[in-house]
Amino acid sequence: MNDILPEQTPVWQFVEATVRQVLGQYGYQEIRMPIVEQTDLFKRSIGEVTDIVEKEMYTFEDRNGDSLTLRPEGTAGCVRAAEEHGLLFNQTRRLWYTGSMFRHERPQKGRYRQFHQIGVECFGMSGPDIDAELLILTARLWQALGLSDHARLEINSIGTSESRKEYRLALVDYLRQFQDQLDADSQRRLETNPLRILDSKDAGTRKILEGAPKLDDYLDEESRAHFDRLRELLDAAGIGYTVNPALVRGLDYYGKTVFEWMTDSLGAQGTICAGGRYDGLVEQLGGKPTFAVGFAMGLERLILLLETLGLIPESVNANADVYLTAMGDSAVAPALALAEKLRDQLPGRTIVTHCGGGSFKSQMKKADKSGARYAIILGENELASGTAALKPLRDDEPQQEVPQEDLAQALSERLSH
Ligand code: ATP
Ligand code: MG
Repeated sequence: MNDILPEQTPVWQFVEATVRQVLGQYGYQEIRMPIVEQTDLFKRSIGEVTDIVEKEMYTFEDRNGDSLTLRPEGTAGCVRAAEEHGLLFNQTRRLWYTGSMFRHERPQKGRYRQFHQIGVECFGMSGPDIDAELLILTARLWQALGLSDHARLEINSIGTSESRKEYRLALVDYLRQFQDQLDADSQRRLETNPLRILDSKDAGTRKILEGAPKLDDYLDEESRAHFDRLRELLDAAGIGYTVNPALVRGLDYYGKTVFEWMTDSLGAQGTICAGGRYDGLVEQLGGKPTFAVGFAMGLERLILLLETLGLIPESVNANADVYLTAMGDSAVAPALALAEKLRDQLPGRTIVTHCGGGSFKSQMKKADKSGARYAIILGENELASGTAALKPLRDDEPQQEVPQEDLAQALSERLSH
């Protein structure tokens, strides 16, 4: 679990603000759920034989003896909340949320035990048009973050649960012949969750999979038509993608469309956004049958990617714009007052007032360290003449005496270029 330090938070705020802005453009509404839910909710939605439920959840008993779990993902809680408050009855919804998720995984680059996701869930829409909208929206987000050239889209259809059942039988039949040659995880999954074997990274298993039956041949008519139409819509929107027949996703609740946005710049942890359709989940959790599709995006990976590629805009930093110093006790009250006036006049700028006194030299040192482009110096002389000294900190321009009432104007001009 990581601390996010003051030097790093501007990047987080930049990414969060960009996502918030793009989602707002499409009319998605934010929902905030608790980070703790009944353990049973995750077992029923994510599936008992998934990595998450089998070995990654932070589960504990509270004082009443109820089994609770720190949320490992947001979809289950979002569906629970939407159902509980009647948000899904006879209506469509476009929802999003952001926050911490918890999984007890082996920590490594791009994989943490507390991490942050932005999740989007759409309810009540059956067609491939909303699937397409989600992918168009993410493409716009990559554009806004400067990542368009570094994110590629893989899509697949995994059909309905009935068509997957038939396929699962065929796959297990085929893999049984090679049971001894499969990697240990896949051998175990043969009994529990055979579709996940398609996802195996083991070279030997991959070789065996080359001859395996293809999910595509088992797709039901409706899923195939849905997928074909989705591809048409993506083509029309100019969204590039590859169809990856091995893309199955780890959670039980998906069906029909699944997708992942990947990058090649982060090594093995290359999935930055993943999702798909989950029409069966709301009913599975006790609601009325409700169409649903969504995705989740890992913020740590997104930020790591921006940093790795050097794509963080220069304006994204924790620097002050102006550092206001007060030389001598008599300058303190006027300095605080002047800073207030400047904050009224320059609401978008960061004005840091020096606190704690000290010599000219030590105050100027702090001014420099604040990253500010200008220092304002208020001493006895300036107070007497109603001026302030305006000192550029990042270039060799000379210091200037400016009447206090003209300071905001002078700063505004200088800071804008
Ligand atoms: P992976 O295959 O990388 O384990 P996943 O299938 O478990 O991913 P999802 O549950 O679909 O991931 O979560 C969506 C996104 O959340 C991932 O694509 C990734 O960007 C991010 N993510 C998942 N687990 C972690 C983690 N432990 N630390 C940081 N980010 C994560
Ligand atoms: Mg995982």
